[in-house]
Amino acid sequence: MGGRLRPWLEAQRVGAVYLTDPVSIAYLTGFATNPHERLMALVIGDGEPVLVVPGLEEESASAAARGVRVVAWRDGQDPWAIVGGLLGPARRLAVEKGHLTLAAWERLRALTGEPEAVDAGAELRRLRVRKTPAEIERLERAARLTDEVTGRIVSELAAGRTELEIAAAIDLHVATTGGRLSFDTAVQSGPNSAQPHLRPGGRRLGPGDLVLMDFGVACEGYRADTTRTVVVGEPDARQAEVHGLVLAAHDAAVAAVRAGVTVGQVDEAARAVLRDAGLGDRFIHRVGHGLGLEVHEDPSLDPGGATVLEAGMVITIEPGVYVPGWGGVRIEDDVVVEAAGSRMLTAADRSLQPVG
Ligand code: ZN
Ligand code: ZN
Repeated sequence: MGGRLRPWLEAQRVGAVYLTDPVSIAYLTGFATNPHERLMALVIGDGEPVLVVPGLEEESASAAARGVRVVAWRDGQDPWAIVGGLLGPARRLAVEKGHLTLAAWERLRALTGEPEAVDAGAELRRLRVRKTPAEIERLERAARLTDEVTGRIVSELAAGRTELEIAAAIDLHVATTGGRLSFDTAVQSGPNSAQPHLRPGGRRLGPGDLVLMDFGVACEGYRADTTRTVVVGEPDARQAEVHGLVLAAHDAAVAAVRAGVTVGQVDEAARAVLRDAGLGDRFIHRVGHGLGLEVHEDPSLDPGGATVLEAGMVITIEPGVYVPGWGGVRIEDDVVVEAAGSRMLTAADRSLQPVG
């Protein structure tokens, strides 16, 4: 378990590690949960690593966590007494600075007497960025199940249904696959589709509406993330044109993906297509992001980004065009970076399908 982190710990001369992000704990131990406000931590010091969990989680943690000793605390006990005993005397401490609360750090500092800590968060994100074959297999399964949901929901869309009803129908289809939701399902129709992060509401689909749906299935914690845009009835000329341009931008970005290119080059491949068509200022976000145990993780495919793609990274490609008052089009797929190119995990129909 601690093996993946061990070379870094030695190089940093870290004496003890206190990890609190449930995603890091899932990655290192295989045990995934959300402890809410109760203390859960992976403590790596001398000897066998210890996973400290709330008593409610003891049975499931003991069954799922590998390479650790599970120590549970009950409501009414002070979990910090356990942590203090595990960390022992003062020595260089590593924590996840992006996750540990200031209140928790003050407790740790009082327990250990250490005035400062090093950040293990960046190293954990670096380890997670290249997926193992087993991780890719889960992401592949997640994408396949997401494709099934896409096929079902597109065939059911009809004028008169609300965005919230469609989102609920997607969530039910996700449950039917046996997977979980990767994130809150987004359904935006008509002018609402021009706002990339709007939540679904009571608006009913009407003739001529663009309908943008962004959702995914998670398998064993690994999250797919896809977007499809369809139209109620036959598309008009402008809808067909913009959708065709977004699809061309998407295909250009996918064609640019391979180990050794920068994320900025991939973003630029998509951006150039939309800029040449006069829509550069309507593509208002990055072209994609890494996927894994979190729906957004490294690498971030930012405009001008210098991060170099490596084989085994799994990313989204999701260019979009958003025109206030008119609507939006986004096409998002999940892609594995390979040495000489890429492999698409998402297979659902990308065309501007007329529905209901
Ligand atoms: Zn998405
Ligand atoms: Zn995405």
